[in-house]
Amino acid sequence: MRCVRCGTHEDKVIDSRSSKDGSSIRRRRECLHCGHRFTTYEVLEQRELFVVKRDNSRQPLERTKLLQSLSKASEKRPVSRETLEEAVDGIMAELEELSEKEVQSSRIGLAVMRKLKAIDPVAYVRYASVYREFQDVGEFIEEIRTMNNDPLHGAHHPELFKIKEAKLNPPVTTSPST
Ligand SMILES: [Zn+2]
Repeated sequence: MRCVRCGTHEDKVIDSRSSKDGSSIRRRRECLHCGHRFTTYEVLEQRELFVVKRDNSRQPLERTKLLQSLSKASEKRPVSRETLEEAVDGIMAELEELSEKEVQSSRIGLAVMRKLKAIDPVAYVRYASVYREFQDVGEFIEEIRTMNNDPLHGAHHPELFKIKEAKLNPPVTTSPST
């Protein structure tokens, strides 16, 4: 690497650190001529995938953005950063396997929802409602109902039931007098 200060091409690597998902390596280098220290990043070359939005605009699919949307949906939920990172890796791998250059945003939305559904029901519902995958409220409630009836998910997530109940049946206060 060419030193940014003196232009010499000789340096030594003093530290190498791989990112958590293994997609990049950060190297701390020291110029052998002037001692200047600088950092380089080695990134895995990936075929760039484009997201086609509803308005037909296109933008590159970014892992960071994907992770942000999952983190946002999981805010204050018992979901670890690690779980989210893994979910994002899974989604990215799934999308890359499509071997297409472009992917519809709705396709990504569905992949995210499938992951969140298995991770945390509240995060899932939040994401789904923000994402507007649902045509109307009826479809949305139907989806929650299906989830609660699903023995794999519903039974383990009583809190979702509470949310639904609270929304559909606001608590009625009764007076003790007769
Ligand atoms: Zn130098």
